[in-house]
Amino acid sequence: MKSINPALNQLIREYPEHSQEEVAAIVERTSRSGISWRKTSFAYRGELFRRLAGMLRSDKERLSRLMTEEMGKIIMESHAEIEKCALACDFYAEHAGSMLQDEIVETEASRSLVVFQPLGVIFAVMPWNFPFWQVFRFAVPSLMAGNVGLLKHASNVPGCALAIEDLFIKAGFPDNVFSTLMIPSSMVEEVIANPLVHAVTLTGSGPAGSSVASFAARYIKKAVLELGGSDAYIVLEDADLEKAVRVAVNARMINQGQSCIAAKRFIVIETLVEEFTSGLEKIVSELKTGNPFDPSIQIGPLARPDLVDDIDRQVRESLDAGAKLVCGGKRPKMTGCYYAPTILGNVKKGMPAYHEETFGPVFSIISVTSEEEAISVANDSQFGLGGSIWTRDLERGEKLARQIDTGAVFVNGMTKSDPRLPFGGVKKSGYGRELAAYGIKEFVNIKTIWIG
Ligand code: NAP
Repeated sequence: MKSINPALNQLIREYPEHSQEEVAAIVERTSRSGISWRKTSFAYRGELFRRLAGMLRSDKERLSRLMTEEMGKIIMESHAEIEKCALACDFYAEHAGSMLQDEIVETEASRSLVVFQPLGVIFAVMPWNFPFWQVFRFAVPSLMAGNVGLLKHASNVPGCALAIEDLFIKAGFPDNVFSTLMIPSSMVEEVIANPLVHAVTLTGSGPAGSSVASFAARYIKKAVLELGGSDAYIVLEDADLEKAVRVAVNARMINQGQSCIAAKRFIVIETLVEEFTSGLEKIVSELKTGNPFDPSIQIGPLARPDLVDDIDRQVRESLDAGAKLVCGGKRPKMTGCYYAPTILGNVKKGMPAYHEETFGPVFSIISVTSEEEAISVANDSQFGLGGSIWTRDLERGEKLARQIDTGAVFVNGMTKSDPRLPFGGVKKSGYGRELAAYGIKEFVNIKTIWIG
């Protein structure tokens, strides 16, 4: 497995892969460790996660540098990601016990109740774009619920995968409660097929989701899928335009645009399109692209060369189909996986920028004439992850938010994940939920006990 610095296109290090025998042995050890882990108390698990949170905070600089080096995230965003992982540890350390408390249900029985018990070994197939956060978002609630975890991370972030495993060990978690498998995607099926594995969660692209879901179906394992998105960012005529423009830049440019919940389709009332576009262009043209370790840089490289090819193809095909190039639309002349921040105007149905997920720094502006048309365009997508609506009328915002077919809608704010709120999608954005009480209940046996 190769770790390649995308800012320099340079090999950092190669890591050996686990053999089939090693994988089977790790699964076996993880399963065995689950027998005692599930009997531990919430207080004990919470104490370990609080310790892990402390280690994340005290080792933030080293862990952030590792992420930035392996996948090109700008260093400030790496810092924020590590902080967020620590927050998730503290959050579930405090709340998991109450979230999974027995529920008494009144029936004709002398006592009937619902209890929440761990499923066992949970296998996570994770992406590279938030190499720490995606893993913690799965691991913290799963382990707090009494499960044990196996990670197969994306092949381009092996250093992060091993660093996370190491953090669990150093924080004092019992051996094999959380283990990393160094395997390619071709070995995912045999892990899911292993009778000692009880459930699988995948965050990634549609094709990967489809494969993993089919394996889960074949071996009858519970699955959660967090897939792609093409979130709408609707700007209505009564929006605070200055703020909507400013937040749009963050909402699209986070992680160089490589975020499932980045705003991707900017659906703007036609009377504001010109002002919105010129406001955006002014900020975007001043963004500095370059070395992601330089704190004054806002745009780093994409994570791999093929991702630059993908975004470039989507931009060129959209331009060929009639989109208007406001700025960018090219690879800057510098070494590394860079793509210039790009604004496409006049985006219409039929163009890749309208239908596909654009996983890079590209704004697609779609003009609409009414609020009804805005909602209809927002829903005209194979995806259903998040979205934003900008209006000064908060009642109108809430009413419209209910009409958008996604797992989340933010009014006058950018879509973001928050341990207190459930996160996930509908349509081709996947199924199941992470975070909050809904997330921790995905991987538990919701068990009825009835006493006559
Ligand atoms: P990806 O290529 O689908 O990879 C994700 C993970 O799946 C990796 O570990 C990958 O392993 C594995 N994988 C790929 N193909 C597989 C297959 N056929 N069978 C089993 N496993 C397979 O996605 P990515 O490029 O890393 O991430 C980008 C995608 O993730 C975007 O679409 C983005 O929107 C989505 N995403 C969604 C969320 C969410 O919460 N909804 C969050 C972040 C990202 P290898 O690396 O070894 O191929």
